[in-house]
Amino acid sequence: MKDLKEQVIEFAQKLNTTNLSPLRSGNVSVRVTKENIEGFYITPSGKKYEALETNDIVFLELHKEYDFVKMFNSGLNPSSEWRFHQDIYLKKKEAKAIVHAHSPHATAVSSHGKSIPAFHYMVALMGGDDIKCAEYATFGTKELSKNIIQALEKRKACLMSNHGQVALGKNLNQAFELAEEVENICHQYIIALKIGKPKILSTAEMLKILEKVKNYKKEL
Ligand SMILES: [Zn+2]
Repeated sequence: MKDLKEQVIEFAQKLNTTNLSPLRSGNVSVRVTKENIEGFYITPSGKKYEALETNDIVFLELHKEYDFVKMFNSGLNPSSEWRFHQDIYLKKKEAKAIVHAHSPHATAVSSHGKSIPAFHYMVALMGGDDIKCAEYATFGTKELSKNIIQALEKRKACLMSNHGQVALGKNLNQAFELAEEVENICHQYIIALKIGKPKILSTAEMLKILEKVKNYKKEL
């Protein structure tokens, strides 16, 4: 099995090759404890993902307050969106890996600032009967972290208003797959809206699905 830094590179490159997040947009991270210090590995800022090397992957501590200028001066160069990764790991213990993407359909839906209702039962994969959309705030700010964490309450993924989406998992593979599911659902939702107002599944039906999804995951 690849080491965690190599996995970060592998999935960052997959953001580009699968078109989940084109060009240099999007970023990935994975929770890690290094020399007894809790933290995470994250993709760097401003480097093409195809040219990434393990030395480029940045380790940030979970319980350290970073100052952007000092960080830059000391040669640390994490993704400019490192803050919400740190805040998600702090607030959501179950998050072991995070994939953030500006995937086209999720981003398009996010620009409406609305949650995606249960127009398809697969919405349950994200943890509930809708996929919430975090309110807009400038990238890299504490406010954006707060909005994302709110939208992720009892959820494993959410949209980010006028920005994109974020998905969590027990590992990078799972987080990446969930981000792909979110993108797929958003694509379907846009098509469904084109022909009118889709029928929404009832809360009772979605509770049934959520139970099934839980058992299905246990079998994996
Ligand atoms: Zn972003």
